[in-house]
Amino acid sequence: MLAAVLAPMVVLVSSARGETRVPVRLDPRAGPVLAAPILLPAVGGRAVIGEGWADVTVGPRTFRFILGAPLFRLDGKLQTLVGSASLRRDTLQLPIQFVSEILPGALGDRFRYDARLARLVDGAPAVIAARESPRNPNRLPNGLRRGHGVTIDAGHGGVDPGNPGLFFPNGLREKDVTLQLSLLVRDELASRGVKVVMTRRTDTLIDLRSRGAYCRDDCDLFVSIHVNSLPRRPGYQRVRGFETYFLAEAKTEDAARVARMENEAIRFEGSGDPAEQPGGLDFILKDLQLNEHLRESARAAELVQSYLQESHTGPDLGVKQAGFMVLTTARRPAILIETGYSTNPDDARLLTARASQRNLAASIADAVVAYLLEYERKVGLGPREPAVAGRSRK
Ligand SMILES: [Zn+2]
Repeated sequence: MLAAVLAPMVVLVSSARGETRVPVRLDPRAGPVLAAPILLPAVGGRAVIGEGWADVTVGPRTFRFILGAPLFRLDGKLQTLVGSASLRRDTLQLPIQFVSEILPGALGDRFRYDARLARLVDGAPAVIAARESPRNPNRLPNGLRRGHGVTIDAGHGGVDPGNPGLFFPNGLREKDVTLQLSLLVRDELASRGVKVVMTRRTDTLIDLRSRGAYCRDDCDLFVSIHVNSLPRRPGYQRVRGFETYFLAEAKTEDAARVARMENEAIRFEGSGDPAEQPGGLDFILKDLQLNEHLRESARAAELVQSYLQESHTGPDLGVKQAGFMVLTTARRPAILIETGYSTNPDDARLLTARASQRNLAASIADAVVAYLLEYERKVGLGPREPAVAGRSRK
């Protein structure tokens, strides 16, 4: 419990490879944890996940964590932990003790942890860092292959204001805030070496079904950015938080409500009821290529949720699915982020203050880069194999 109270929000890993911010999540059962797909690339490590255990290898050492139990094994010796390693939506999460004590203990000549700054220093000389992450003219300093493209879609625009923005200052509405956030995400991605195409850069309306067309062959991911709101009902102003959707049949009434709200833009386009459009959701979901994209989309959504915890003060409302028209036409993995509620004063402030907007945009950009790195490893283009994330598939 004490460890939970004192846990930092972010652990900074610095090495010859650069600096990585690893968000700390407070898991109700496992205590403060770090997502392995974010941490391990930063220390040149990897993980293999089996039934009930996970082997984490960093340098010459392999740590076997017992999932869900406060135990790990090193050199044949079972040792106790304060928290535990566990899987969350198929993502391995490691107790913070792994960076604060275990790595510096087992690889003391290489790792040092500064608890005051919540900083893990990886002193591996540049030669080791270079071996683990070979210098390659086709790679960016963050390890990413050059030439990735992402489409950022600022929700609504022009005659479609989106939601009225109950607590937004200065008459801002959803369409204004989505554009501000999207432009910041574009800048953050550009500074990470990812090429960005915007569906809109000004206050104009783009047809919902045309937006996906901005993401085709040379595009790796489509990201639509929105702000949620609730209809007037008792206590509605207290609801806040962020959630990320991918395209599939809605599982809950609330997910269906959000999709209906975002799909309403179509009435500004004078093209009738969305339900009567040809190529409905079930038709699209039969497309096998798209099924692969759905798995990728779900993964991208998970990473966005993980990273946004770092900069968002509201609760993580999780990955959800629903039938968003804007996502149906992207022929690539596609997600829609509801960045918060304009009907909640705290979220409204967070979404409109410049500093917090920048932090949110940086988190989204970090998540996109993590997704692209993971995708590269999965398809065998990555600098280090095997894949860091996910359950081992047989
Ligand atoms: Zn919206």
